[in-house]
Amino acid sequence: MRQVAFFGNSKRIKSRVTVFDTTLRDGEQTPGVSFTCDEKITIAHQLSDIGVHVIEAGFPASSTDETAFVRDIASEGLESCICGLARATRADVEACADCGVDMIHVFIPTSEVQRVHTIKKTHKEVVDITQSVVRFARDHADQVMFSAMDATRTGMNELTEVYQTAVNAGATILNVPDTVGVASPSSMKALVSTLADTIACPLDVHCHNDFGMAVANTISAVEGGASQVQVTINGIGERAGNADIAQTVMALESIYGIRTGICTERLVETSRMVSRLSGISVGPTQPVVGDNAFAHESGIHSQGVLADTSTFEPGIMTPEMVGHRRRLKLGKHVGRHAVSHMLSDAHIIAKERELDEIVAQVKEVSNRGRKVTENDLYEIADTVISGAGVEKIITLHDIAVINGNHIMATATVRASVNGKDTVCCRIGNGPVDAAMKAVVGIVPEELELKEFSVSAISGGSDAIGHVSIAVEDAKGRLYDASASSDDIVLASAEAMINALNLVYRLKK
Ligand code: MN
Repeated sequence: MRQVAFFGNSKRIKSRVTVFDTTLRDGEQTPGVSFTCDEKITIAHQLSDIGVHVIEAGFPASSTDETAFVRDIASEGLESCICGLARATRADVEACADCGVDMIHVFIPTSEVQRVHTIKKTHKEVVDITQSVVRFARDHADQVMFSAMDATRTGMNELTEVYQTAVNAGATILNVPDTVGVASPSSMKALVSTLADTIACPLDVHCHNDFGMAVANTISAVEGGASQVQVTINGIGERAGNADIAQTVMALESIYGIRTGICTERLVETSRMVSRLSGISVGPTQPVVGDNAFAHESGIHSQGVLADTSTFEPGIMTPEMVGHRRRLKLGKHVGRHAVSHMLSDAHIIAKERELDEIVAQVKEVSNRGRKVTENDLYEIADTVISGAGVEKIITLHDIAVINGNHIMATATVRASVNGKDTVCCRIGNGPVDAAMKAVVGIVPEELELKEFSVSAISGGSDAIGHVSIAVEDAKGRLYDASASSDDIVLASAEAMINALNLVYRLKK
């Protein structure tokens, strides 16, 4: 099992910080999110595989299902330390111990507002309960984390007294939660520094994003001496969520040079997995993992990036470091540099004159107000360069779609993949969905349709439809493609074929 936290560094800022992930507990408390047992196990394996030190698997006392989930995760033999959450009662602690977790996380409200209105206890009673329940928890687990819930709104004297009591009773790590997200980076640093100077126990932080400062507050806590950070994948969690793992880890690693032990190359893939399982999508401008995190519109930026990627990217964080893909977007301000670079990515060599012609055609398409996809670029190159070697790995031969009001939309596709005839049949929600699924079904790759839009090029019901799509591969990398036809089902299928060819071409 991974070593969890450490204490005793003379410097205030630790050179290593451990990561505590609460996607399966706080993350699942996101309104509308509910993971099945299989999904929880899948996420737990991913978290363990990428190097998360502690996985908060759930809150066993909350229901019998939850008890079973936590027990299942604890029995998976994962490398991460498995933690269960418990209110400060013996019954909750026993429920955790019965699940066989490695760590019990005991919490009790300490701020006046929460003490009075939730548990109706005095500060003295809270101290006594902390003393007895933490000791009881320590009898059941080697590792006990104690949380003073709403720490950032608790008086300093009360807070230190409760924490000191927990340490005396055997707590092995103290969590400082900003339960309602009201800390600022400077107040968080001051609070954690004071606690680090007063109490001899490793500190962990749990920050909420109510004012958009969860990551900043988490980093400030590390500046103050915290040795462990609590995060969730994609920052999901109650209300505005928690500190995001990708942002927190990359800021610590790249800006501060602090090691987290996380395999950062798998951050994008992990984000996509949790986005899919939680149903909570990630916006394009989301830091680190968003689709645009390393995308450049043509012009000054892409030219700069081609000369040296650190001109218009952080440099200390690259797409490779987080498992992302740098994308240059084609537009009417596209330059020869960008086009030539994108062609060479697909192993296409253009002569000077051919390159000029390709650039001119890209600009012309863009001037007509259409988005130019990577696939469009390769199609253009294919027509401009004779014998360009832009061979298509997949060619569509036949497509048949049956649809009606009393029939499931069913599509059958026949295509050649690497010269081999392949047939696939799928049902779908309507003819377009069925056709797309049948096309994806002809290749073994796991690809997911992320964007789909149709626009009419001319008016009338016989208009030429232009279908523009983006598909994502299993590692979360995006590929755009498009196609036009007077039949939108056919245009959709062709757009998907184009996307598949693009995936293969860039993989080569
Ligand atoms: Mn929380």
